Amino acid sequence: MNTLTQAKRIHFVQAALPRWYRRRRRDLPWRGRRDPYVVWVAEIMLQQTRAATAGPYFERFCRRFPDIAALARAPLDSVLKAWEGLGYYGRARNLHRAARRVVGEFGGRLPGTAQQLLKLPGIGRYTAGAVASIAFGADEPVLDGNVSRVLCRLFAVGTELKAAATQKRLWSLARRMIPPGEAGAFNQALMDLGATVCLPRSPQCPACPLKKICLAHARNRQQELPRRSPPRRLPHQTIVAGVIRKAGRVLIGRRPEEGLLGGLWEFPGGKVEKGETLTAALRREVREEVGIRVRVAGPLMTLRHAYSHFRITLHVFECRRLAGRAMALGCAAVRWVRPPELGRYAFPAANRKIIAALRRQAGAAKPRLRGRARAQRPAK
Ligand code: SF4
Repeated sequence: MNTLTQAKRIHFVQAALPRWYRRRRRDLPWRGRRDPYVVWVAEIMLQQTRAATAGPYFERFCRRFPDIAALARAPLDSVLKAWEGLGYYGRARNLHRAARRVVGEFGGRLPGTAQQLLKLPGIGRYTAGAVASIAFGADEPVLDGNVSRVLCRLFAVGTELKAAATQKRLWSLARRMIPPGEAGAFNQALMDLGATVCLPRSPQCPACPLKKICLAHARNRQQELPRRSPPRRLPHQTIVAGVIRKAGRVLIGRRPEEGLLGGLWEFPGGKVEKGETLTAALRREVREEVGIRVRVAGPLMTLRHAYSHFRITLHVFECRRLAGRAMALGCAAVRWVRPPELGRYAFPAANRKIIAALRRQAGAAKPRLRGRARAQRPAK
């Protein structure tokens, strides 16, 4: 089998993979549904999220926004709230923007070709291929992390995965492999094989339906393929944030829609400049962002968080407003809210940890208050 031509290998995959898929396909909430909207939402969620994590979000999202018109009508805030916890919020913003374009330009029906889909915000080559093939039956290939890994191993592609030439070769292989008229099921079969059998660290070759023609398996090169670029060291930022209190409420600001975590709410704060102390940085950031002067009362917590391109250490302080009226200077909106109402807003992960700490703090304070009230009650 080591000497087979590429055409024969492809022919083998076209016959063996669909057989395996019929018996072993994953039972996922979006499987078997051809509604283009549903396929689109699922594929956007799967861009940077594992299927097991995306599943419950997908079901909640489709209940909340059952079709494109409902998504287009919804305010961005409620879309971000439904996405809260999935991360990579640009996906939700683009999905929302694209739904509005589909309603405005295509009468509420998602276009059916990969070329048209590619013109919508947030739809790249992979998503266009997945939606066109699964929802519309078009013979379009897909190439995500799972499919890339399978192809690199099957055909012993040893060049660096991210290199343009490698990507071109993989896309061409993915296209040539499609059995005509079967792209939807075939693409999903390739994804499932990558997700359940051809695993990154421990490929399950004995259980693989393609082991007879797999070059990496024959040459014992599974561990070295695909060839990845050396990992980059993520830059680190020190950030400060303030829980600013006034008359039982806390101040939150909404990030501008464009950019990282756009449209999400957060506690005011920002980056510590070189040579600045944490508290001086917080006072400056609060003044620049929401226009008020604060007294930094004391530390609340310190937490670490990693984003895709950098890591942060976030120092959170309790603050009191000294002067000024909160205004959206460096953010899109500001609001004073009672702590129990914070759950109505969409916050990034690091800020949700602050909210959890505030809830714990409030929970710990209640029994003390109740105890004190009892102690103060006059004896009968
Ligand atoms: S034989 Fe092993 S390396 Fe080759 S495709 Fe199957 S699981 Fe992956």
